[in-house]
Amino acid sequence: MSEAVLKSYIDGKWVLPATSTDLVTAINPATEEICATVAVCGHDDVDRAARAARAAFDGYAAFTLDQRIALVEKLIAIFERRYDEMVTAISTEMGAPYDLSYNAQAECGPGHLKETIIAAREMEWERKIGSNARLVREPIGVCVLITPWNWPVNQLAAKIGPALVAGCTMILKPSEVAPLSAQLFAEFIDEAGFPAGVFNMVHGTGPAIGDALTSHPEVDMISFTGSTRAGIQVAKSAADTVKRVSQELGGKSANIVFADSDLTAAVKRGVLHCFENAGQSCNAPTRMLVEASVYDDAVGIAAEVARAAKLGDPMEKGRHFGPVVSKLQFDKIQRLIQIGIDEGAQVVAGGVGRAEGFDRGYYVKPTVFAGVHNKMTIAQEEVFGPVLVMIPFKDEAEAIEIANDTPYGLAAYVQSGDLERARRVSRRMRAGGVSINGAGQDYASPFGGYKQSGNGREWGEWGLHDFLEIKVINGFEG
Ligand code: NAD
Repeated sequence: MSEAVLKSYIDGKWVLPATSTDLVTAINPATEEICATVAVCGHDDVDRAARAARAAFDGYAAFTLDQRIALVEKLIAIFERRYDEMVTAISTEMGAPYDLSYNAQAECGPGHLKETIIAAREMEWERKIGSNARLVREPIGVCVLITPWNWPVNQLAAKIGPALVAGCTMILKPSEVAPLSAQLFAEFIDEAGFPAGVFNMVHGTGPAIGDALTSHPEVDMISFTGSTRAGIQVAKSAADTVKRVSQELGGKSANIVFADSDLTAAVKRGVLHCFENAGQSCNAPTRMLVEASVYDDAVGIAAEVARAAKLGDPMEKGRHFGPVVSKLQFDKIQRLIQIGIDEGAQVVAGGVGRAEGFDRGYYVKPTVFAGVHNKMTIAQEEVFGPVLVMIPFKDEAEAIEIANDTPYGLAAYVQSGDLERARRVSRRMRAGGVSINGAGQDYASPFGGYKQSGNGREWGEWGLHDFLEIKVINGFEG
């Protein structure tokens, strides 16, 4: 995989850019060696892909739901047959340890695709409305899908799946940082036999082709996952042609730990969740708010868990954490840890510098800060690394106030032995998803954020809605 230059996929063919000769390399974060070289597209290739998607739209939209689902079922079967290749691709390009890649990162592929089929079968696609009208759901048209590197297959499947089932045609621009998983996903789609032009993939960077994609007149809708910074640019670029823009952006999620919770279990779970995927999850519980009466105990537990956290080779099985994705990301995290120290927070585990025992690889020390107040930079900015901040609160009202005092609103977590209290507090969270006492989220639930965490809802039925228009035909019912 490392030698070949990765091609784009336009109108059912693997192609090199028509005129651009630029190459971008992706780096394996554990070895710091090149793991992929990508031929990056220019504006002419974007245009070619948009025209191919437009030309394919009417035909594909006319497929019956059963025909589209049959193709997606083929895609699932191919994915499952080549599952191990996907696991390796993810660990190689972005450093998720093998077990995480196998059990969670790659699993999101078939997981989302299957759930989308269930949701599509259960959905009411048409119904009578009012006295004589018909309400019809139709595919929105040509979609641009832009994805990040951190849960690469999750984001690919959560966009491509509903777009295909809804009857849309699409242009994917995957993250240039993690192109291997997208390349494989595109190979699976190619093998499944979708009509040419239904799915297109252009490689490239945001600065080079982002605007060409998001302002293209043939594009009807954009589904974007990434940073709030880029999400804002995408929305502005799409505004002149009034495209629908669905955004899944950053987060700085609070984890409220009440004194009546099972403290050891709750803190340990919170720390490990924060460090999972080397802290590079948009919904990571990165701010642990702890009731003052048990704050010192909680800090002690968290520091112990962080010091015991093992780092290791992403290619190896076992319960270790991996490196962060890139030098850029490593440097940004180091800078933010230093800012935390400079602003007076106390490092109780980890700190600046590469983790001990590694002479290469972007291994960040799992870090816990105590003595943090919510106005500090490390409590407000998304670090996107294994860095936990711990903030004390005096009562329920203050916990809610601090939890919501953030520009983000993606997720929140509540730990309490009193379920009524946990329910009450959950309802007050200004966040798209709340978890009580470690409950996980399944593929049928909506995923997305309030405030600057975005405006879309992906997964299951809600993921389909993003890709559908609503039409009312008055007089249809006679
Ligand atoms: P990023 O914003 O740098 O890049 C995301 C994608 O957008 C990449 O494909 C990139 O090439 C592209 N891009 C960048 N600038 C663009 C522009 N001006 N126009 C069009 N495309 C552009 O983000 P990242 O570093 O890849 O991913 C990490 C970020 O993603 C974090 O902020 C994280 O919280 C967020 N994220 C959010 C969710 C969610 O569901 N809310 C899920 C995963 C990641």
